[in-house]
Amino acid sequence: MKASVPAGPIAPLRWAAIAATAVLAGGCMVSPPREHTRAQEGVVRAASPLTAERVGQAFDRLLPGVLALVPDSRRRDIEIWVQDVPALYEFQSSAYSDADGFYAHSARRIHLREGSENIERTLAHELVHASLGRSWETLPGTLEEGLCDYISTLLCPDAAARLSAGRLASAAFSTGGLVLDIDLALPSTDRPDQRDVCWSARLRLEGEPRIDVDPLRVFDEEAGLSSSDLTPSQKKAYYGIAFLVVQRIADRVGIEGLHQLCVNARREGLSQVPAERLLEAAGLGLERADLRAAIEEAFTPREIAEIVRAHPEFLASTVAHYLGPVGLEREILDDIVQLEAFIAVSGPAGRGLAIASMEPFRSDIEHAVRRSGPRLAGH
Ligand SMILES: [Zn+2]
Repeated sequence: MKASVPAGPIAPLRWAAIAATAVLAGGCMVSPPREHTRAQEGVVRAASPLTAERVGQAFDRLLPGVLALVPDSRRRDIEIWVQDVPALYEFQSSAYSDADGFYAHSARRIHLREGSENIERTLAHELVHASLGRSWETLPGTLEEGLCDYISTLLCPDAAARLSAGRLASAAFSTGGLVLDIDLALPSTDRPDQRDVCWSARLRLEGEPRIDVDPLRVFDEEAGLSSSDLTPSQKKAYYGIAFLVVQRIADRVGIEGLHQLCVNARREGLSQVPAERLLEAAGLGLERADLRAAIEEAFTPREIAEIVRAHPEFLASTVAHYLGPVGLEREILDDIVQLEAFIAVSGPAGRGLAIASMEPFRSDIEHAVRRSGPRLAGH
């Protein structure tokens, strides 16, 4: 079975622990959800007719999209079950209890979490697993996860920034952290329409717990399998690296080019596409520095904006540091709205994001200043 690891959180801050134990083999199968709808593409079961209907519409929209984008993909007779907790067996305690969804090959069924972050995106991911033809079998397992994620960003563009930011941040966290440069600027007093940078900071965001993985193991690990003994953070790290590798291959030679590597390996009697061929197609070297440069390059303003959106506190605390020595005078607080932030992923390829006003962060900044404890002027 293959699981979809939730894209969030991007942040270093929280990460729910997964009870990592084996699936209870031979346990009782769960009973199907009460309601069902018959979509064009197949049956969807859920607790309410409304949910079944909604997911059925997504099924009808997404499956043709998957088939159009992925070479050697095919319709299989599958069902979709939407559950509170995606499970195949009663009393299941598995590495999937924290997953947003999984595809159970033997049962020909996709299980989705009703309250998942983005049920359509998860469905798109699982539909790729469910549709791949045999020629894809030589693709290393974790890269299949990267392929599923990549296709889901194409089919669910609204969810793409969040997924991409989450995956790339996980890749960065596991290979030395995500280094951001933040410049705070004010409108220039003597040069109209110009800004003066008044303060700069460099932050390193890291995962919690802090981890470090050997990136090359992405080609050996089966991070998506329930039997994998990777920790949740290691899993996220490999999903992140796999996403990056697949995205780079797709940018260079398309999904067709990735598929051709699989076909060639199969023809040569290899069980897997050799890692060197995948790295070459991705334009990546073997060194960790190559990977870090690729991660920096992949972080566009879209991903940076997503990180700021999900975790405004790091920006707020940076501004609070700047304000620290002067304290939170009412007048200074009024000036905060004039501050602008320029955030870039550090590195030669880093492209920045400009945030024109601190106004949306004002209450976070006030909180951060109060917490960091500078003197607070009256009012
Ligand atoms: Zn998956």
